[in-house]
Amino acid sequence: MARSTKFIFITGGVVSSIGKGLSSACIGALLEARGLKVTAMKLDPYINVDPGTMSPIQHGEVFVTDDGAETDLDLGHYERFMNVTMSKLNNFTTGQVYETVIANERRGDYLGGTVQVIPHVTDEIKRRIREGANGFDICLVEIGGTVGDIESLPFLEAIRQMRLEVGPQNAIFIHVTLVPYIAASQEFKTKPTQHSVKELLGFGIVPNVVICRSEEPIDSKLKKKISLFCNVAENCVINAPDVGTIYELPLVFESEGLDDRIVESLNIWTGSPNLSPWNKIVKSVVEPKRGKVTIAMVGKYVELVESYKSLTEALQHGAIANDCALEIVYIDSEEIEKTSVESVIGSQTIDAILIPGGFGSRGSEGKILAAKYARERKIPYFGICLGLQIAVIEFARNVAGIEGATSTEFNPDSEHKVIDFMESQRAVSRKGGSMRLGAYPCVLQPGSLVHKLYGSKEISERHRHRYEVNNTYRKQLTDAGLVTSGVSPDDSLVEMIELKSHPWFVGVQFHPEFKSSPKNPHPLFKGFISAALSFRDKRNSSEKVTYSQSSDPTSLAVGQ
Ligand code: GLN
Repeated sequence: MARSTKFIFITGGVVSSIGKGLSSACIGALLEARGLKVTAMKLDPYINVDPGTMSPIQHGEVFVTDDGAETDLDLGHYERFMNVTMSKLNNFTTGQVYETVIANERRGDYLGGTVQVIPHVTDEIKRRIREGANGFDICLVEIGGTVGDIESLPFLEAIRQMRLEVGPQNAIFIHVTLVPYIAASQEFKTKPTQHSVKELLGFGIVPNVVICRSEEPIDSKLKKKISLFCNVAENCVINAPDVGTIYELPLVFESEGLDDRIVESLNIWTGSPNLSPWNKIVKSVVEPKRGKVTIAMVGKYVELVESYKSLTEALQHGAIANDCALEIVYIDSEEIEKTSVESVIGSQTIDAILIPGGFGSRGSEGKILAAKYARERKIPYFGICLGLQIAVIEFARNVAGIEGATSTEFNPDSEHKVIDFMESQRAVSRKGGSMRLGAYPCVLQPGSLVHKLYGSKEISERHRHRYEVNNTYRKQLTDAGLVTSGVSPDDSLVEMIELKSHPWFVGVQFHPEFKSSPKNPHPLFKGFISAALSFRDKRNSSEKVTYSQSSDPTSLAVGQ
């Protein structure tokens, strides 16, 4: 008989954004390190049906799966920490649940019965959980928001019912809570935790484990207090203090005995976890041997810090692969427009320039100037999605002589839209909408830089964009020296570009950051950071030359 899946339900208390997603991902990593087959799901109680349309500033990055689902960024944590591929089954919202229930009702599936939150909405939640869990030893189910939010109630009710249905040895509850430090009295306070667990108890959920997020580890006296007031065993009160690198968290949890407690409660017998990959990763982040690289990330300032989680992590993975430390300098492209690229980027010591994905025309001219600066000075350049489009526009204007070249997104009325909406894309668009979403194959040009980096001829990467390189201009651009190093198998879409006369200038129409993990750093990020290191070393050794000839900008080139 096939083994049935065991469930770990994770709730959060006191405040949001305390790292429930990260905690879930690390639990998954620990259980995988014990040889178990683990998956994870994120249940979002908000009403939106489509997380893809939510503002990244309000809600953080939109994470894209192979099957083209636009999901919560926690799925990115799951993929980075675990060897699992997420799909549209791994994330759903209240809006999606209601959409199904209402569609069922319209079809007459409920045979005229009264449709209610219990059982119809909770049944649909449980059905979706089972669907996502199918085939795994363990399914982690993270409930978004905090206990006590009105919209979380059906989800809490559904997981309460599920434990009753599958039995206590097949499902446990873990509550992640905040233990704040009050500086004035110099002590940690457990009262918010007590209150949030009490709230949980009110819904019929008794947590098996309480994970305490705090600035520093809390001592055994406080653990005892939480145990007593929250009705959890003392060894099930787990410390989750702030850590230097998030990749340390699996090790912290293991030393707190969290995975031991989980397998005991779920009655699973495994060997001890193999944590050597995590030890190695942490060592290279904490004690890098090759110094530091500084990457300038150019974009709209407000979006830069919060909405590029996968990207900043992928850069970190590239640094891990090169055994160096990483510093990211955020550059506001509108600032470049207001002043000059020299004063904004040139005034800083940077080893590479990256233009990430983005939407809208604001700041685009500043980004184009940054791409030109990287091209001319032979600074390693990595353009991701919008960053490829920017590089193509810059090349079209300043090398191929296509005056006023731009994107339909920036100016739909302009004459030379080198980035445009392609008919062939409309044909392959799977969702009926206008975005190309999810995994698409790409064929690499033999001998190109990207071919060397990937080490294979055909790859698959995830997309999330509307516009493409306009094929009308392709010949003109390639004649002028642009290399289309990656194309769709039928050659109808440009997926990657590079420049021959530059040490490392790569643009990709997809989002490689979604497929990078600390255990498997993505080849493009590995290559980009390595190029930044070479640039840094050459700059350091030729510093004198650079400054003495600063009147001629081309002589600043040090990467060739
Ligand atoms: N705005 C561009 C497009 O829609 C790029 C999107 C992106 O960078 N993800 O094509």
